[in-house]
Amino acid sequence: MISAADVKRHKWWGWGLDDVTFRFDNKPLFAPLVKEKVGLDLDAITPRPEPQLSDYEVPASVLSSEDAAALTAIVGSENVRTDDEYRVVHSFGRSVTDLFRARIGDFRRIVDAVVYPASDEEVQSILRLVVERDLVVIPFGGGSSISGSVTPDVDEKRAIITLNLGRMRRVLDIDDTAGLARVQAGVYGPDLEEQLQERGWTMGHFPDSFAYSTLGGWAATRSSGMQSDKYGDIEGIVRGLRLVQADGVIDTKPIPGRDSGSSVHEMVLGSEGRLGVITECTVRVHRVAPVREVIAYMFPDWESGVRGMHAIARSEVHPVFTRLSDGPETRFSLAMVKEPESRKSKAMAKVQEGLFAYLRSKGWDTREEMCISYVCFEGTKQHVEREKSAVKRIVKSVGGITLGAGPGKIYDQKKFDTPYLRDFLLGMNVYGDVSDTGTTWSRLNEMHSSVYDAFYRKLDEMGLRGFMFCHMSHSYHQGACLYFTFAVPYESDERMLEEYTALKHAIQQEFMHHLGTVSHHHAVGTEHQPWIAEDITEGGVRMLKDLYAAQDPGGNFNPGKIVTP
Ligand SMILES: Cc1cc2nc3c(=O)[nH]c(=O)nc-3n(C[C@H](O)[C@H](O)[C@H](O)COP(=O)(O)OP(=O)(O)OC[C@H]3O[C@@H](n4cnc5c(N)ncnc54)[C@H](O)[C@@H]3O)c2cc1C
Repeated sequence: MISAADVKRHKWWGWGLDDVTFRFDNKPLFAPLVKEKVGLDLDAITPRPEPQLSDYEVPASVLSSEDAAALTAIVGSENVRTDDEYRVVHSFGRSVTDLFRARIGDFRRIVDAVVYPASDEEVQSILRLVVERDLVVIPFGGGSSISGSVTPDVDEKRAIITLNLGRMRRVLDIDDTAGLARVQAGVYGPDLEEQLQERGWTMGHFPDSFAYSTLGGWAATRSSGMQSDKYGDIEGIVRGLRLVQADGVIDTKPIPGRDSGSSVHEMVLGSEGRLGVITECTVRVHRVAPVREVIAYMFPDWESGVRGMHAIARSEVHPVFTRLSDGPETRFSLAMVKEPESRKSKAMAKVQEGLFAYLRSKGWDTREEMCISYVCFEGTKQHVEREKSAVKRIVKSVGGITLGAGPGKIYDQKKFDTPYLRDFLLGMNVYGDVSDTGTTWSRLNEMHSSVYDAFYRKLDEMGLRGFMFCHMSHSYHQGACLYFTFAVPYESDERMLEEYTALKHAIQQEFMHHLGTVSHHHAVGTEHQPWIAEDITEGGVRMLKDLYAAQDPGGNFNPGKIVTP
């Protein structure tokens, strides 16, 4: 049986592994782009030294010895951690606010203990104890939340325990006939896919945070992976689940459709730990496709690219994903390409140069306007070939060109590396963050340009420089997700969060003006709460408050997330 020490965790001040960092010295276009867009000369800056936990004072745990003994009796002493590093790493998610606070040692309130149960019974015993002794419990998957969902309230006076599900990580069984797998909720993405793929199956859920997020966390935040066009968002993938509460267990049946009144299943999805702990999910699984190809395309501008993506969504083609970067994001992607070293990559770089020169001669603006797109196909060889031909025709009909599989392969291999970039930027006194929303095809272009206007207007007002870029992904019949990334240098630690919050607010408010959602797949937590009433109306907020208050009268389960009492 594994113990707490075997469960992987982030470095306490950043993303993922200690020895993996972002490098720009091998990317010749990166530093010039940063200089041009935000005025920073990366070569002239000395990065901040890596933070050391020993430089900060970590407040002592306020968990009473009686409560600690009761928790130890449930899970064993090796699975109750009160050491500083465990408590700090579990007190922050991976939002810019959380990463910044961790880096500067803002430990005003950190969790008092981290507990690792191994079974539903242990989870329930812990929840009972939490209610009886009036403690606070925060369920924890990978801690990759970027909306403040795992962060304790700085004013909380009660003892806070984090319940880490990492020891519950097994695929329990697979129903080959139904294409359903019953899986424990604490499993990390790579471990889950490894267990499934050993038996020829995949769940097909690959969020950018895949390496450091879990099935339970995905369900509790209504996550969406990059392959959602084919495999669905998590609410489509999770067909049944088990929610453990202090005084009972709720199981929702993994049936294809349900008419059992208002959906309890849907209420639990996205509940961010407010209703109890999801210990198990029954998920849709698919046979691993024999052929998989990611093809890259180029469009002269954003509008033609969107027309192409929309036409694909409305066609008979069903790609695994469709993704369109706008002009600024295309520029950024090209700046992330490594200096060619091998003969093959040097030849590819020459071909690219020639292609861009040709496109310029045809009137394309290859520097600011041109948009790159990736579309992924899976299935039998014939199926993939048929779909590729259909997409090629659509792309051509809106003025785009097909580049082929080369750039697609690079995109596919590098997609999980970008989270390390944010830590690098923070080390250079630059914050980089994202805001995403769901919108309809009819409002998509208007939303895209208005968010840019709002961002740059706010920057001007504050006398700052920054850079924004965007991509469209997660296509549906009626619309898609717009995903904005922005980076802004800052000078003062004291003002950083205030400036960042003002910009984030300008972007989120624009989502509301154009009838978008607070987020397409980054949850509500605390950071998206200011707009929740505009999104779901005051009546919707009241309904959620009543639900959480009735299910958790003591306010013991991750209080303050999604809505505040
Ligand atoms: C770099 C980066 C990229 C990201 N990319 C994506 C993306 O592509 N798609 C996407 O959807 N999200 C993305 N996210 C956001 C984040 O990864 C998701 O919200 C993810 O679903 C959180 O999973 P987790 O296991 O890390 O949960 P945590 O962060 O540990 O927890 C999130 C919330 O769920 C609750 N929770 C966790 N486990 C359980 C459980 N078993 N029972 C009840 N409640 C539970 C927690 O209490 C908390 O409220 C990204 C985040 C980062 C930092």
